[in-house]
Amino acid sequence: MESRELYQDIILDHGRKPRNFHKMDHPSHFAHGHNPLCGDRVTVFLDVEGDKIKDVSFDGRGCAISTASASLMTEVLKGKTLAEAEELFKAFHAEVTGGEVPAVEETLQDDFERLAPLEGVKAYPTRVKCATLAWHAFEAALKNGATGATVKTE
Ligand code: ZN
Repeated sequence: MESRELYQDIILDHGRKPRNFHKMDHPSHFAHGHNPLCGDRVTVFLDVEGDKIKDVSFDGRGCAISTASASLMTEVLKGKTLAEAEELFKAFHAEVTGGEVPAVEETLQDDFERLAPLEGVKAYPTRVKCATLAWHAFEAALKNGATGATVKTE
């Protein structure tokens, strides 16, 4: 199978059956993300202890790309340290915006590759916002703790 088709299948699968798709009862951090261009809404919940992401989930409603991206994000972030999460976000952001992708630690290679199905959005600037929405909500959650900020893509 061509990797493009495989990637398409992964996005459709995660779009239809998102993983970790539920509200968290007592998150240590959470934030809402809104992408008005597409109408995507996502809330990211975190359970952070020390510098480790013990659990991460999301809910909301959006297009297949935003839902798949949030779903894949929760899969790769679970169990990571905040520094590792930041590294993955930087590399992912560079990849989908067509920037120069920084090298990630060897221990994070597999996780970074799991995000590869979304790299195709770089050809579609409006889709980039769909793909990065959950990650921006994740960053906002980390900054705002349990008060729950809202981040809007521009
Ligand atoms: Zn969207």
